[in-house]
Amino acid sequence: MPTYIVLLGPPGAGKGTQAKVLAEKLGLPHISSGDIFRENIKNNTELGKKAQVYIHDGELVPDDLTIEMIRDRFSRPDCVNGAILDGFPRTPAQADALCKMLKGFGGKVNMVPFISAPDNVLIERLAGRWTCRAAGHVFHGIFNPPQTPGKCDIDGSELYQRDDDKAETVTHRIQVYLTQTTPLIDYYKNRGVLVEINGFAPIEQVSMQLLSALK
Ligand code: AMP
Repeated sequence: MPTYIVLLGPPGAGKGTQAKVLAEKLGLPHISSGDIFRENIKNNTELGKKAQVYIHDGELVPDDLTIEMIRDRFSRPDCVNGAILDGFPRTPAQADALCKMLKGFGGKVNMVPFISAPDNVLIERLAGRWTCRAAGHVFHGIFNPPQTPGKCDIDGSELYQRDDDKAETVTHRIQVYLTQTTPLIDYYKNRGVLVEINGFAPIEQVSMQLLSALK
């Protein structure tokens, strides 16, 4: 049976970091909708051009574009055994679409870790975040500083601050999460797959909570 895990939580909760840990541990692909959008923006594709305006403003990209993009990602063969989804779904319409897509593989959403942290922590994490241009590796000015300022420890590429990690946009993204994405908490609770994870802890401790929830 394939294993599909959806990481749910506000921006800055640590979904991306934990998705990488889970993907590695379980040998499954990490699918980050935000990374796929950023890749499209970097390559100046039609999808990238359409998505850019929403992302820049901290708004959600419309459901039809987002669902199509994920459908396309799922058409690749590496997803048949399962996947770790990070940042998708973000609305009930996306969750319904995901459910239908997975049925096509004989799969379903098996577990939804809901990672939460207080707003002030989210803001501090996002506003201090530095991302590498080449591969999206993530650092933090205070909590996880790179060895050489401005340079990625892993591939040496330039670190930049995401447009949407600027303080004004961060507060708006949290608001968008509260209005548009929090209905998914009950959505998955009602389906018996939600697991609450305390994201206000060191990275390793959050990973330990996740891995023990998987057992
Ligand atoms: P993230 O890297 O997950 O923080 O996503 C960055 C931005 O990409 C979000 O603020 C949205 O503008 C857009 N985005 C990512 N995933 C989705 C999604 N599932 N639905 C709509 N917009 C999304």
